[in-house]
Amino acid sequence: DHLANKIAAGEVVERPASVVKELVENSIDAGATWVKVDLMEAGLQRIRITDDGAGMDEEDCEIAFYRHATSKILDENDLFHVRSLGFRGEALASIAAVSRLSIQTSTGDSAGTKMNLEGGHFVSRGKSDARKGTDITVEELFFNTPARLKYMKTIHTELGHVTDVLNRMALAHPEVQFICTHNEKQIFKTNGRGDLLQVIANIYGMNVAKKMIPIEVETADFKVDGYIAKPEVYRASRNYMSTIINGRFIRSIPLNKAVLQGYHTLLPIGKSPIVVLNINMDPILVDVNVHPSKMEVRFSKEKELYDLLEETVRQAFRKQTL
Ligand code: ADP
Ligand code: MG
Repeated sequence: DHLANKIAAGEVVERPASVVKELVENSIDAGATWVKVDLMEAGLQRIRITDDGAGMDEEDCEIAFYRHATSKILDENDLFHVRSLGFRGEALASIAAVSRLSIQTSTGDSAGTKMNLEGGHFVSRGKSDARKGTDITVEELFFNTPARLKYMKTIHTELGHVTDVLNRMALAHPEVQFICTHNEKQIFKTNGRGDLLQVIANIYGMNVAKKMIPIEVETADFKVDGYIAKPEVYRASRNYMSTIINGRFIRSIPLNKAVLQGYHTLLPIGKSPIVVLNINMDPILVDVNVHPSKMEVRFSKEKELYDLLEETVRQAFRKQTL
């Protein structure tokens, strides 16, 4: 079903950053403690992702490239209890459909598996070493979809998108070590020791990290923790407001608004704070199945959540000024 894969690829794989996002999510779902991301020319030439996750045996590895093959959802009911980052089972098939891809993977029990695909077709397979984990290389992205390739921006712009993805992943997963290179130079590294403030320092710099106030609050439905910056470290865009729901980085305009209302008049007009909020809730209360990018979500108890955030931010500054 190569045509269907190519069509699905258009939705899932927009640019190198989408490939990085999907592959890193898979590594995290596989329980990796570290993920290495090596890029050549912002990923347009090559993206290599290596992890120390659970790996796959030969059969699972082959199946993983079929569309809608996912090991993460067993029945329809699971769709409403999504804990893993992936669940649609279309990323690997989609990425393979528009690139030359090679994979080496092993569960660590016996020899590993090696497969090569071109435009979604298996072209060779064999054994690899038994290091537990997975190593995927994606080369010449969009080589067979020239229309899409034409839309790629400059290396600089594409690298910016990839960096955004890596920052979000690292903020959402301080317990995973990220080591990233571009054209063989290291661009980003976290220590994987689970310290969110340290990741904030890695991304926004030590001066910002020093201005962060920790917050922590728990209700019957929600557990929120993270850091909000003092009003003096503001930014001109809301891109510095990060929200992570059950380990998944999301975008929510009303949620950002609630946080901004908590700052009330503390911020200059039109400015936004740097915040990183981790919100945990029963997966039944959040619908992540809204868009293939999984960035948009819906909450069942949205009013309660927004009020809680606004009040928590307000309280944090009340405490500060006392
Ligand atoms: P999804 O993540 O939605 O399940 P994908 O197409 O991204 O779908 O991946 C298909 C399947 O391949 C996953 O369900 C998982 O079983 C397996 N897989 C993919 N990447 C990895 C990895 N890095 N380590 C272990 N298993 C993986
Ligand atoms: Mg996935």
